[in-house]
Amino acid sequence: MKTAIYPGSFDPVTYGHIDIIKRGANLFDKLIVAVLLNPSKKPLFSVEERVELLKAVTYDIPNVEIDYFDGLLVDYAKKVNANAIIKGLRMVSDFEYEFQMALINKKLNPSLETIFLMTSAKYGYLSSSVVKEIAQFGGCLSEFVPDIVAQKLKEKFLDN
Ligand code: ADP
Repeated sequence: MKTAIYPGSFDPVTYGHIDIIKRGANLFDKLIVAVLLNPSKKPLFSVEERVELLKAVTYDIPNVEIDYFDGLLVDYAKKVNANAIIKGLRMVSDFEYEFQMALINKKLNPSLETIFLMTSAKYGYLSSSVVKEIAQFGGCLSEFVPDIVAQKLKEKFLDN
């Protein structure tokens, strides 16, 4: 069975992520969307909230699982028996970092491939940070995130 991991912060999940999830799930028997616990980032949503939102927006894709991990991606890949890492690429600015990570991960585990899926043109500008900025100022989110995510964002910024 071919398994891929799609790692990221997903703080929160956007239509750009969902597009990559659907396309990745078509290429593999199983796709594990894995929320990275990154100690150097201060997320808006807790891991539990991010996992819950990811589950809600992917419930209709049968070969997608949602999980979270900390530590090295190569170690997590070994644990879940994954053959590949899926990454989305938007701008040239994504490339430099992703290129470096792909080479490092290849060095750490030569049998683990990183596969890049080019963003769909309509989501090329979309990031979780942009979505949070719009939410903070009460802008309309319907083109960027599913309703359930928009609702949670509104609640967050009402609380703060
Ligand atoms: P961000 O906060 O920038 O949205 P994440 O860490 O949540 O970043 O992203 C996880 C992965 O999803 C990364 O590989 C990133 O390049 C990819 N990704 C994020 N948004 C998009 C998008 N709109 N189109 C394609 N890939 C995306």
